Amino acid sequence: MLDFICLGSGSCGNCYYLFTEQYGILIDLGIGIRSFKKYFREYGLSFNKVNAILITHDHTDHIKAAGAFSTEFHVPVYATEAVHAGMLRNRFMQKKVGAAERHYFACGNTFALGPFRISTFKVPHDSSENCGYYVECEGVSFCLMTDAGSLTEDMARFIPLSDYLVIEANYDAAMLAGGPYPMFLQKRISGLNGHMCNEETARGLAENLTGRTKKVWLCHLSEENNHPELARKTVENALAAVQDRLNEAFTLEVLKRKVPSPLYHLA
Ligand SMILES: [Zn+2]
Ligand SMILES: [Zn+2]
Repeated sequence: MLDFICLGSGSCGNCYYLFTEQYGILIDLGIGIRSFKKYFREYGLSFNKVNAILITHDHTDHIKAAGAFSTEFHVPVYATEAVHAGMLRNRFMQKKVGAAERHYFACGNTFALGPFRISTFKVPHDSSENCGYYVECEGVSFCLMTDAGSLTEDMARFIPLSDYLVIEANYDAAMLAGGPYPMFLQKRISGLNGHMCNEETARGLAENLTGRTKKVWLCHLSEENNHPELARKTVENALAAVQDRLNEAFTLEVLKRKVPSPLYHLA
């Protein structure tokens, strides 16, 4: 058994949980600790089965409660040296990750945690560093790439290897350009170290998806500069051109910003 749930996705907080009967890993814990605990209880999930927390990068929406949860339940937190250092500097974390719980890896390396084999890869973003995760378990592969200024070759090579993929579709280019954000912020978001827009994600998926991938979730949608239906349509339109290359059972979903997803059974 391998299950997946998203407990939040976007600038208000990101949190993803993958677990087997015996072992669970969180990728990012950027929602508040109270919401996190409430959702876990509502879904009948056990805090004791969170064996590790993996961090993508040191922006508050990905780390807010990582220290608090790690401290309370003595859960190790895995991140690169630069991201751990960035977390120690971040003033908005509810609690810091204790020295004993800090575990380090180099982005690009592969390591094992319980039944999970975890490969990491660089994702361009304006944080201390940012890692994508490609996770293999029970014969299934799951990949998460978010907060990406662009889709690099290093990232794209994981798309055809993924049975399940979570990928950012942050903003619609026209909505961002015509929206309320000041120019400096628009440039930050659309820059090569900012976020991916719907069009770029759509193109990247159309170019790289194969029959292997069963499901793609679009994540980290902007509240002001995107709309779930617009993101979905943009990707669907691009994928229509490569329909015969996709898995017959392929589905596309958009993750909600502040509401947990359903529980998905991946294996
Ligand atoms: Zn983010
Ligand atoms: Zn970020």
